[in-house]
Amino acid sequence: MNRALIVGASAAGLAAAETLRREGYEGTITLVGDEPYDPYDRPPLSKQVLAGEWPPERVRLRTSEELGGVELRLGTPATALDTINRVVLLRDGTTLPYDGLVIATGVRPRRLASASADTGTGTGTGTPHVLRTLDDALRLQARLTRGRRLIVVGAGFLGAEVAAVARKLGVEVIMLEPAAVPLAHAVGEDVGRVLTEAHREHGVDLRCGVSVTETREGGVRLADGTEIEADDVLVAIGSVPNTEWLAGSGLTLDSGVVCDEYCAAAPGVYAAGDVARWHNPLFGTPMRIEHRTNAAEQGMAAARNLLSPDAPKPFAPVPYFWSDQYDMKVQAFGHLREHDEVAVADGSLADRRFIAAYRKGNRLVGALGVGMPPKAIRQWRQSIAVSAGWDDAVRPSSA
Ligand SMILES: Cc1cc2nc3c(=O)[nH]c(=O)nc-3n(C[C@H](O)[C@H](O)[C@H](O)COP(=O)(O)OP(=O)(O)OC[C@H]3O[C@@H](n4cnc5c(N)ncnc54)[C@H](O)[C@@H]3O)c2cc1C
Repeated sequence: MNRALIVGASAAGLAAAETLRREGYEGTITLVGDEPYDPYDRPPLSKQVLAGEWPPERVRLRTSEELGGVELRLGTPATALDTINRVVLLRDGTTLPYDGLVIATGVRPRRLASASADTGTGTGTGTPHVLRTLDDALRLQARLTRGRRLIVVGAGFLGAEVAAVARKLGVEVIMLEPAAVPLAHAVGEDVGRVLTEAHREHGVDLRCGVSVTETREGGVRLADGTEIEADDVLVAIGSVPNTEWLAGSGLTLDSGVVCDEYCAAAPGVYAAGDVARWHNPLFGTPMRIEHRTNAAEQGMAAARNLLSPDAPKPFAPVPYFWSDQYDMKVQAFGHLREHDEVAVADGSLADRRFIAAYRKGNRLVGALGVGMPPKAIRQWRQSIAVSAGWDDAVRPSSA
């Protein structure tokens, strides 16, 4: 292999590029990204950047100079992939031939119908906010001043982090969530309720069981016709994998790029990060993970397998994520979704200091900690990694 091409210049793409070099690959590496910036980190966007604590430069992961030996092509999206002739087409008309390709194009925010003029640039008056890019974060940050009112549509982790920062800045926050208990599908009802309570204590007007059908100039409209006014609206209702450019490529696309356990989507084509739906043999199920650590680890795994197609290694991680809200640090290992049972294994929900363990069948599949030292929750990682049985791993304490 002499020509490695990586599409998507963020956490997963960067990890893939750097791994190729670290593993001794000496051919060319081209990293294509549609954003005009050097690769940068997203988690601080809804935390330190939004709070105005970090200048935007601080999220940069590498400068172009630090990426010496990697040809960066920024500000130009890839628009098509031809897997037969092994070329990628860019919007500016360039065709890039490759011997090995890593797809790391991530996801974009899901949007709601909007009755206000949406210029598509995110700058029109009344245009609802989303939060995925540095520009999104700076635009929202400029609006979060004391006394203003923000509606957050969706009480998932992203919406919850923004609500927490906005409250800290003295912004009035109304958070609207269709589910009866936010995050119940992801972390279970009891844990979802605990996380939710923290928002109410900090003055967020959280309304559950409420569906927003449309954003409008100066607010939102609910399914029952009610209108709620606000200075700004953030829509945080999940994301859509960036796979449109792969239409007609012959790859299997099913809410992400479908890959095998080696992150391979086709001969010489791998996918990594938020866009990849791969088979995780540790859990025996396909998954697509939208978390920072997984993006880097999968970028590395895809690059290694690209270099060793005859001796590939399965990518079988214990997924990890964290979220910061107020003084709460949430950390989780494993595959929490589709669990059969949640039990408090340490601490207490009432004190908001606990570790919750997740069961699927007779196996421990996940653990989530709030307010616990990192070491305490990390111990659970090992039990999940060795597929520990539920009864062996969990000694529930009373909540
Ligand atoms: C505000 C925010 C807060 C977060 N907080 C946390 C957190 O606390 N903990 C955690 O674990 N995770 C968090 N995440 C998730 C984490 O940031 C992502 O999992 C990670 O960024 C995924 O990296 P990626 O490289 O797979 O995709 P992305 O970071 O989405 O990067 C994909 C890149 O490809 C580009 N691209 C798309 N299409 C094309 C194309 N056709 N051609 C060229 N380029 C293209 C995109 O514009 C983007 O630059 C957060 C995410 C956001 C947005």
